[in-house]
Amino acid sequence: MSNNIIVISGPSGSGKSTLIDRLMAQHPEIIFSTSHTTRPLRGRERDGEDYYFVSEKQFLQMAERGEFVEWAKVYEDYYGTSYKEIETKTKTGKDLVLDIDVQGAGNIKKKYPDALFILVAPPSMEELRNRLVEREQKIDPHIEKRLEIAREELSQYDIYDYIVINDNLEDAFAVLNAIYIAFRNTISRHETFMKQLVEKSGGKR
Ligand code: 5GP
Repeated sequence: MSNNIIVISGPSGSGKSTLIDRLMAQHPEIIFSTSHTTRPLRGRERDGEDYYFVSEKQFLQMAERGEFVEWAKVYEDYYGTSYKEIETKTKTGKDLVLDIDVQGAGNIKKKYPDALFILVAPPSMEELRNRLVEREQKIDPHIEKRLEIAREELSQYDIYDYIVINDNLEDAFAVLNAIYIAFRNTISRHETFMKQLVEKSGGKR
């Protein structure tokens, strides 16, 4: 059963990370799936929380041993989700959020078809460009390339179940929260409860 896995993708500048942080702050029953990566640690990131930071050699050995559910090269670095991460964290009974790119989402879908797939999209490509420029505080020479990668990612929207258009953070969060709450109340999540409910009421009637 993969009805407790939530995959969230979105290009950089879509606001995906902020939305995930808010969702997790509001719902302590959600935990984060920590990926492995070969990219260097940034700012306040912590090894073992944001990512497991590993060398390229370690990463490729893990890939060779089949330890990843999915892995991909994003920009210049490798990123992957291990079976161990998914198995140990889903066993806690909590819901697991995976922040991974579109290639990863497609591969997770093949293995965990009951997971929830959400894509965070910008309101327009122009707004995405503005956000990327603002974030960099300078004109990024690679901006056209990054926008092209974003367009490519967004063009694969049809593998997702829901799209959250992040024009304004408050509204986008309300949509994401509503999707998550609905996901927690699907039939498959309430199967045991419903079986017990009808059993008891059947006996009393
Ligand atoms: P960043 O380096 O900015 O943290 O992440 C870059 C991109 O890699 C983001 O789009 C993020 O969603 C994606 N990513 C992070 N972890 C994984 C993973 O385990 N697998 C895949 N396929 N993508 C990942």
